[in-house]
Amino acid sequence: MAAQIIHIATLHANIDTNIHKNKGTFLSKHKIVIVGGGFAGIKAALELSQDKRFHITLVSDKPDFRYYPTLFRTATGGRRIISSIMLNELFAGKSVHVIKSTVNKLDKKSRTIGTNTGHSISFDGLVLCIGTMPNYFGIKGLREYSYGIKSNKDAERLKKHLHDQLLVDKHPDLNYIVVGGGPTGVELSGVLPAYLKEICKRHNVKNPKIHVDLVESAKRLLPKMPRRYSDAVSRRLHKLGVKIYLNSKVEAETTKGLMIAGKTILSRTVIWTAGVKNNTFFADQGFQLASNGRVRVDQYLQSDSGIYVIGDNADTPYSGMAQTALYDGKFLAKNLKRLADGKSAKPYYAKKPIYVIPAGRKWSAILWGKVQIYGRLGWLVRRAADLVAYHDYEPFRKATSRWMAEDDSEEPCRVCKKL
Ligand SMILES: Cc1cc2nc3c(=O)[nH]c(=O)nc-3n(C[C@H](O)[C@H](O)[C@H](O)COP(=O)(O)OP(=O)(O)OC[C@H]3O[C@@H](n4cnc5c(N)ncnc54)[C@H](O)[C@@H]3O)c2cc1C
Repeated sequence: MAAQIIHIATLHANIDTNIHKNKGTFLSKHKIVIVGGGFAGIKAALELSQDKRFHITLVSDKPDFRYYPTLFRTATGGRRIISSIMLNELFAGKSVHVIKSTVNKLDKKSRTIGTNTGHSISFDGLVLCIGTMPNYFGIKGLREYSYGIKSNKDAERLKKHLHDQLLVDKHPDLNYIVVGGGPTGVELSGVLPAYLKEICKRHNVKNPKIHVDLVESAKRLLPKMPRRYSDAVSRRLHKLGVKIYLNSKVEAETTKGLMIAGKTILSRTVIWTAGVKNNTFFADQGFQLASNGRVRVDQYLQSDSGIYVIGDNADTPYSGMAQTALYDGKFLAKNLKRLADGKSAKPYYAKKPIYVIPAGRKWSAILWGKVQIYGRLGWLVRRAADLVAYHDYEPFRKATSRWMAEDDSEEPCRVCKKL
């Protein structure tokens, strides 16, 4: 079956010879293949598309770019467009050849990649940024029964489940359990109590008893953050009615609920946010991996000559964050342009991200170097950061209208739609 071509804009002709320089291999026919339509890949493609010396192909297995930071909103009544931007919209009028396909093979010798649609695409330079996958750590039942928020589909499945329960049972679940006290678990559990109360009201459920539990295996929430920061977030969640279970390792999930320390917490709504692992593509294709499973890269973000690994996949100090992925995409595009100019590539330096974690409506915790900000001011910083990030991918007007849609709602349920 032919790879589905979503959009083909101008293709640059006349590919020249390859020129290899040592400091980060360079190619002069600049036939660059980018795999992964996420934060890193799209940024790199957009930056390089402005330069006529490059012929850019972007291969992604999804037709859209998932803006993960607002997925918790989409899962709790927000609109889909705030967390999903179609690739053909993003690349309209740009010199980027977009192919929707899953890359499943890499032949380093012949410098080609293979896709699940039977295509073989050759490259001079390859950029791999295919993100992470959920990690259930082999815990029984999680894959089958838990919900997640790793894609729009996940978010909508969860939202539908929350409504369907009310339609069928006419009362909320006994417990809504979010597993994972990292940023995603905090974001989601922070908005769940208010959202559940709101939809119960719409479904005419009087005085509902809502129990939202946040389960974390470490001694405190956000264990990688400073103590003061995680304490402030815990207090905030507590105020919002979230019950926090620390030092609690999940043992299994069954149709009845979640097992922790031999006991079952009754629930049909367990949302797993506790683990991601590197994309298995890299192990399958024999890449050198660090102990955390990410790909070892050199100072130019190369894993092999002319093969770059960026964003969540690379073993760099701050990978695992959208800000880093975006930064990597920009950094690599700049370096490829430098090489095309006949200059040497610059070594990578890791940029410390600003941590912005929302907990409930109009409240965020910020960690900016040594500065910590909480509350409404934090929320304003978060909103500003979203606007800047959308604008990194879209023209200002489009980015602004997407950003302004954050407060709009989009319900999957026939009861809630009427209101
Ligand atoms: C719910 C959630 C909330 C988050 N919130 C924040 C936040 O507030 N701030 C922050 O900084 N970070 C946040 N992150 C982390 C951030 O989203 C990631 O660090 C970022 O997406 C990494 O970008 P990337 O380009 O490396 O990968 P991704 O954005 O994951 O993009 C990878 C792309 O590759 C595609 N792909 C995968 N396999 C293949 C294949 N074999 N062939 C072709 N295409 C493939 C995927 O479909 C995807 O489109 C959040 C993550 C999640 C899950």
